[in-house]
Amino acid sequence: MGKVAAAVCTVAVCAAALVVVRRQMKSSGRWAKAEAILREMEDKCGAPTENLRQVADAMTAEMHAGLASDGGSKLKMLISFIDNLPTGDEKGLFYALDLGGTNFRVIRVQLGGKESTIRRESEEFSIPPHLMVGSSHELFDFIAGALAKFVATENEDFHVLPGKLRELGFTFSFPVRQLSIASGTLIKWTKGFHIEDAVGEDVVGELTKAMQRVGLDMRVAALINDTVGTLAGGKYNNPDVVAAVILGTGTNAAYIERTHAIPKWQGPLPKSGEMVINMEWGNFRSSHLPLTEYDQSLDAESLNPGEQIFEKLMSGMYLGEIVRRVLMRMAEEASFFGDNIPPKLHIPFIIRTPDMAAMHHDNSSDLKVVGCKLKDVLEVHNSSLKMRKMIVEICDIVASRGARLAAAGIFGILKKLGRNTVKDGEKQQRSVIAVDGGLFEHYTKFRNCLNRTLQELLGEDTAENIVTELSNDGSGTGAALLAASYSQYLQIEGSSS
Ligand code: ADP
Ligand code: MG
Repeated sequence: MGKVAAAVCTVAVCAAALVVVRRQMKSSGRWAKAEAILREMEDKCGAPTENLRQVADAMTAEMHAGLASDGGSKLKMLISFIDNLPTGDEKGLFYALDLGGTNFRVIRVQLGGKESTIRRESEEFSIPPHLMVGSSHELFDFIAGALAKFVATENEDFHVLPGKLRELGFTFSFPVRQLSIASGTLIKWTKGFHIEDAVGEDVVGELTKAMQRVGLDMRVAALINDTVGTLAGGKYNNPDVVAAVILGTGTNAAYIERTHAIPKWQGPLPKSGEMVINMEWGNFRSSHLPLTEYDQSLDAESLNPGEQIFEKLMSGMYLGEIVRRVLMRMAEEASFFGDNIPPKLHIPFIIRTPDMAAMHHDNSSDLKVVGCKLKDVLEVHNSSLKMRKMIVEICDIVASRGARLAAAGIFGILKKLGRNTVKDGEKQQRSVIAVDGGLFEHYTKFRNCLNRTLQELLGEDTAENIVTELSNDGSGTGAALLAASYSQYLQIEGSSS
């Protein structure tokens, strides 16, 4: 090789080396920046125990305010008109219709009193997205149509007594101003529903009209919220149930309150001295909540800005979307995915909470599932292990914050009930929180974190007697049970005897 050629070669090698070094510098700078964004977010999402105690105290204070007067608090503390929960003596065939945020279920149960087990059948449908933002007429027609088809499949295991109408418990998981056990008006939509003409409407009236349109002769015996249904279903199975929490598309809680502790209740005092309260805790907010820029922008761009702040920190509809927003900032400011931002990452709600949970639960050494999700959801084909690890960490931070805040909310309810400590010299009553919802059921790391945090807040001695219990489809079965408790035929039989 001649001298010139050798020199050219050296220059080329040097230049190539320089490119590699530059790339490495760029890449390490990139990771450092991404790491900084992650740490900042971790810091802001932190929910240390002391902070959770403040959140719980704020929850208890808001509960008092909401019970004192309508409009007195961010917590509506809605009176459910349920003053008697099912006892187990109920008999007969009852239907339930459970309209949640993502799915709706139709259920029938044949109850035979304490001596016999419940016979139960159900079917689940997903709600077509266009019906969530269309007209109330269309939505109710769709629901009534599905119910009518389900009723048509009733076999001889189920029987309605001759001359009696089939009765239905309607679980409607949105804030309703209840007027009686079987009537109420919609206060507002949540969880991505937005049907203008339904707000202020008589929900049972709308459903009844739709049932008539499809030729279904059925009577709504009880209009309830999913939390109230879960409470009824939970207590039917376990008398120690004192409260119910939903962690699904949205979040909410209900509990059994003593009537004398509800100053705003003007009605007759029930014999039981108790009333189920639907807290609508999704709308809770407090200066103690660890809010970040991601939460602020999510809220501002949502269908209901300024509302449901507690819900937007922890429920299934939003957790994945928070993760997307963090990744978006990392992509923009730290070129986390390389020089280009993956186009799919721009699409709101593209990362669903089940995707997030799958990545978070990935136990493989090379985080295979994370790699697959990145490919399938964001069309990112060449993710490094380092990148995958950081994504799992983001999922962990977002899920842990939500789960810890949910635990703080439960702790607040227990405080309101005076069940958060062991009283001196007394044997502590057992308290069970019935929990329903796809998030709690399927997102194991979320559920474990919630349970751990609740124990942490209660302390070892008290924690022994306070547990959460998954109440799978408690809200649907509970609605059928409540239809039985509040059956018109019971009232007729009761008054004639
Ligand atoms: P709804 O809240 O509509 O009544 P569900 O209780 O079935 O319905 O909850 C559905 C929600 O639960 C989904 O929107 C999703 O956010 C969450 N979810 C379902 N499956 C999972 C999963 N595997 N991991 C995490 N979240 C899940
Ligand atoms: Mg539900």
